[in-house]
Amino acid sequence: MEKLLLIPGPSPVVPRILSALAEPTVSHVSPVLAADMTTALDNLKKIVFSANGEPFIIAGAGTLAMEIALLNVVARSDRVLVLSQGYFGDRMGQICETFGLAYDLIQSRWGRAVVPEEMAKKIAEKKYDAVFSTHVDTATGACAPVEAYSRVLRDKGILYIVDGVCATGGIEERMDDWGIDIVLTAAQKCFGAPPGLAILAFSERAMAKRRSIPAIPAYYSDILRWLPIMKDPLKYFSTPCVNEIRSFCEATKIMLEEGMEARFARHKKTARAIRTALAALGFTFFTEEAFFADTLSVVKYPVGIEDKAFRTTLNQNGVVVAGGLGETAGKVFRMGHMGNLTFEQVLFALEAVEKTLKSLKYPFESGASIKAARAILVQTQ
Ligand SMILES: *Cc1c(COP(=O)(O)O)cnc(C)c1O
Repeated sequence: MEKLLLIPGPSPVVPRILSALAEPTVSHVSPVLAADMTTALDNLKKIVFSANGEPFIIAGAGTLAMEIALLNVVARSDRVLVLSQGYFGDRMGQICETFGLAYDLIQSRWGRAVVPEEMAKKIAEKKYDAVFSTHVDTATGACAPVEAYSRVLRDKGILYIVDGVCATGGIEERMDDWGIDIVLTAAQKCFGAPPGLAILAFSERAMAKRRSIPAIPAYYSDILRWLPIMKDPLKYFSTPCVNEIRSFCEATKIMLEEGMEARFARHKKTARAIRTALAALGFTFFTEEAFFADTLSVVKYPVGIEDKAFRTTLNQNGVVVAGGLGETAGKVFRMGHMGNLTFEQVLFALEAVEKTLKSLKYPFESGASIKAARAILVQTQ
């Protein structure tokens, strides 16, 4: 039986996207692939609201996108400020470390994000050339105030890089309006495509910064080697993931057919329905409410429910969620609710949760979660 994948990525892949993946593999320099690549790149710009930026689709995953973003705009003499609310901000610190790039890291408490005032104080104290922030941290479920950061950074001559791996396409990120210089993401989270692609969009300012650096410590990750291919996919640099790109193209079409505003609203509503429903069963949340994310929830068990037994039984009931990472291991489960998840799937997942609680002999009002979720999902706004 196919399980409903509600982990923080990969998210469930709908049949339309899977069919595109299953098309016969064509030449990487064929008009067929070139057309899909060009469509995907054009759509990507619409998804991140960038009129004149340069989009990139490169075989890899989110972590490669993080590395590409950093190496292409941070010169040896530069300094980066990393805003970390958990696991992936720390990873960006490690990438800086690996390449010997100077950085400072502000770490918020887990379950929260760095507040804009703290960032403002830091950039007033010291000169930074770039700021990196995670939009939604997958370990803690905390969503950072990206728009508020961008307001602080505006006109300061500091490049702003956003890790949108768990947000782009599910939570608003307006590159032009907010002045974001790089959005980096991956195919398998809010796009609902299979894993395998690093996705980026560079602003004109970020492109100019890349051009101002004579050489970067990367070959495959150098966007100037990829730029001619993105402009004309009939050219060759390194063999792109043909099938992946075609399925990603389909994923971007589905997003624009839904409409970005509708998609953001759907993610918001789904998140609210799931959290209200789980709360009705006695679950609580690891993340502070002010930092709740529309794309995933980090859920604390009520007394009497043990992590392993819960997740194993839930899996047998058809739904896969993830365990906690780091300090939350054994205490929480992480439920992704991003991409092309339908309301019917949400209700199916809640039924599976109730069935699981029943078999674990946990007392609750049967049907409470379904009722709570339905009440929200039927609302028009
Ligand atoms: C998943 C994730 C990553 C890493 O992506 P991979 O595709 O696993 O390399 C990076 N940042 C955030 C915020 C993520 O959620």
